Amino acid sequence: MERPAPSVQQPWRRASRLRKQPPNAGAAGSHERSPTVAQGEAHLIDGKAVSARVLEEVAAAARDLVARGVRPGLAVVLVGEDPASQVYVGAKGRAAESCGFHSVQHTLDAATSQSDLTALVEKLNADPAIHGILVQLPLPAHIDSSLVLETISPAKDVDGFHPVNAGLLAIGETGRALVPCTPAGSMILLHEAAKALGLKLSGMDAVVVGRSNIVGKPMAQLLLAESCTVTIAHSRTRDLPAVVGRADIVVAAVGRPEMIEGAWIKPGAIVIDVGINRVPGEGLGKNGKPKTRLVGDVAFEAARQRAGAITPVPGGVGPMTIAMLMKNTLTAAQRMAR
Ligand code: NDP
Repeated sequence: MERPAPSVQQPWRRASRLRKQPPNAGAAGSHERSPTVAQGEAHLIDGKAVSARVLEEVAAAARDLVARGVRPGLAVVLVGEDPASQVYVGAKGRAAESCGFHSVQHTLDAATSQSDLTALVEKLNADPAIHGILVQLPLPAHIDSSLVLETISPAKDVDGFHPVNAGLLAIGETGRALVPCTPAGSMILLHEAAKALGLKLSGMDAVVVGRSNIVGKPMAQLLLAESCTVTIAHSRTRDLPAVVGRADIVVAAVGRPEMIEGAWIKPGAIVIDVGINRVPGEGLGKNGKPKTRLVGDVAFEAARQRAGAITPVPGGVGPMTIAMLMKNTLTAAQRMAR
């Protein structure tokens, strides 16, 4: 028999069973951590393992589709030679191939005109072998990114940035939208965390820190679709520690290294850290250059002392993004094959 779900207002009650001793519900905004909180007890949400599972499921479903004569096709468009974008685009292409997709990459000169780029997108819109189109951002300054993204057919918009997909998400039609990959992946990790802690998302207080169109806003819509009570915080939010301190779920999408302090986290809360920030590491690397390391937007070590579950950086939300891109491509192909 299933254990009764704990009160959603007090998820730490369930989380505390996972701890050696119950947490002390310290005051929101306090910068002092209670000495009674057990050390290092938060459930770690393994984004690598979950993303590997998603990719396996996508590959299996793609095999079924191929057997019906449809191979999911992903086209990635890269304009210019931004090294980080080249790495991302390469990784997306490899993931597509590993899922058995038809994968094409279009690499255009940094000086490519707006009209040449939109002409390529329109050609891909009309190509029946392509089910997903991704234009890697950022685009060079002379190109209007919004116009390019709006040229992509909403049915092939696997990044989920087209206003039609944003609108479908906003009116709660998540089943018809293509949902932006990072928030979609974050939701899967959130479900994993809730399952591990024996909690239901419905009715929980969720705070999303960040209101970008690619992460914060769609994340808030997805949480709302799960019947969470959602607050969106941003750079003008007053008393952020207190706002975060009330949350059963904290999603950090700020882009500021370790800005969310551990002491702000409500004991037992679920913390999804979307941030990816490169900061100076210790010593020199093999190339003789100073080492760097990746950190999230949450002060991980302190936050894990209070959270019920938390995503690490790296190895949390990051791996989910590419996996969800593959899932969106599969979904687009399945819808077109109907
Ligand atoms: P944006 O820069 O577009 O948005 C940042 C948001 O944070 C803004 O809404 C901004 O508020 C808010 N913000 C900035 N400073 C503060 C502050 N001091 N207090 C409260 N809110 C603040 O970033 P993105 O949404 O694109 O990305 C956020 C993070 O997620 C980055 O670290 C990025 O690298 C990472 N990321 C990770 C991905 C992954 O695959 N894991 C994918 C995409 C992003 P305002 O609107 O008021 O300016």
